[in-house]
Amino acid sequence: MKRIFVSFFILMCATVYAQEPESKQLIVANSKAWKPFSFINSDGEPDGILIDYWNYYGEKNDVEIEFLLLDWQSSLDAVTEGRADVHAGLLWSENRESFLDFAPVIMSIDTQLYINQELIGIDLDELTFGKHDYVVGVVSGGYEEEFTRLHFPHLKLKNFANNQQMIDAAFSGDLDGFVADLQVANFYLYSRKEPKRFIGVRHLYSGDLMPAVKDGNTELQKQITVAIKQLDSKDTEKIFNRWMYVNTVYPEYLTHLIVGGLLLVGGTYIFVLRISVKRKTQALELANKSLKKLSETDQMTGISNRRHFFNELKVRMKQPGSIVIMIFDIDDFKNINDSHGHKVGDRVIRSVVGATSNVVSHKHLFARIGGEEFVVVANNLSYESAIALAENICTSIRSVKLPEDDIEKITVSLGCAFYSNNENDINLSTADHLMYQSKQSGKDQVTAQRYS
Ligand code: GH3
Ligand code: MG
Ligand code: MG
Repeated sequence: MKRIFVSFFILMCATVYAQEPESKQLIVANSKAWKPFSFINSDGEPDGILIDYWNYYGEKNDVEIEFLLLDWQSSLDAVTEGRADVHAGLLWSENRESFLDFAPVIMSIDTQLYINQELIGIDLDELTFGKHDYVVGVVSGGYEEEFTRLHFPHLKLKNFANNQQMIDAAFSGDLDGFVADLQVANFYLYSRKEPKRFIGVRHLYSGDLMPAVKDGNTELQKQITVAIKQLDSKDTEKIFNRWMYVNTVYPEYLTHLIVGGLLLVGGTYIFVLRISVKRKTQALELANKSLKKLSETDQMTGISNRRHFFNELKVRMKQPGSIVIMIFDIDDFKNINDSHGHKVGDRVIRSVVGATSNVVSHKHLFARIGGEEFVVVANNLSYESAIALAENICTSIRSVKLPEDDIEKITVSLGCAFYSNNENDINLSTADHLMYQSKQSGKDQVTAQRYS
């Protein structure tokens, strides 16, 4: 009984072993530079149609997929030498059939001959049969090379390690044409400034991309065949379309370029807007300043007007220390007006302002408060300095001469009210009153009074 049980156990184990050939991990090889089918992207990761396809395959069949992306020839060697289980996808050829076993078709690709647009119009047969010196590029070890060499043995071919190098050579003028898959060519051409520089002129062949395992690995070939047939064609179509119509035509850098472009346009717009707002604000500030100045200035003489004087006086009356208010009025001005005219009168007013400005500091307030009446307010002067300033004003005005207008002498009568501190009852009428005292005492003089 025990022997029967042991035999049964061994039989079971053998059965389980026989039913468990499915590998749960697949090393999938392909090119590292076969855009958009299989390549290493800028992040150093495997990327492309076939990569997405095999990742999807892995998900659906619960198989862990590991990619081994190499040069094209090395990717074939990896499968035949056992470093990879399966080649992700390649075209069938008699030669390849000798060392690989193919699984069902993943997708179709079309291969074309592209020539420089400048050559459009030449006899293509003459070109393909090598009657000219035109050089055509092809990627080494690919089916493109095998096909081209077989069908156009006299064509002058130049080999390249990958499509990128071949297209670069084509655009730098080293090639007159190249052989490439439609999808591949689209991918590279549309990432160039002049995608129409090379035109697909002859369809060479359509081929089916199929996975392949090492010749003789029938078990894995069967396993992949069953698994591929179970994949949902809608899902695989989505993968192909995503790459054909998005990634192929619009290369990765285009997104960066568009985003960069938008940022640049936005940034420039904001920058220009800021500058223009800044300029306008400055202009507005300047306009406001000149408006304010205008509203505070006596138009005829350019000194402070009555309005500004009263505003400013309020501020000065609050400052600590002494304050002196001097009011002066041109003597016998009516006579000047009457005998010389108003224009001369105006010139006399301006000359009085000029002469006063020569002796009054910019720290003092100097204003025209009436037709020919002026006021000077100064803070923190000693009484002696205030008197001296008042006398200086009178002296300076006295020296004014307007020979063209026949004016030999201008005098003013000045009232000077000095307050040792601003707690006093300060008002203009006190200075005005002192000014009248000067008039009454014979004009052309200073009458000062100190209020402490
Ligand atoms: P007093 O010495 O007493 O001051 O005699 P006055 O002749 O100067 O008399 P008063 O100050 O009263 O005269 C002011 C005159 O100034 C009256 C007015 O016609 C004249 N006047 C006022 N404003 C202006 C002005 O802007 N330009 C001119 N040309 N004359 C003005
Ligand atoms: Mg007057
Ligand atoms: Mg006067």
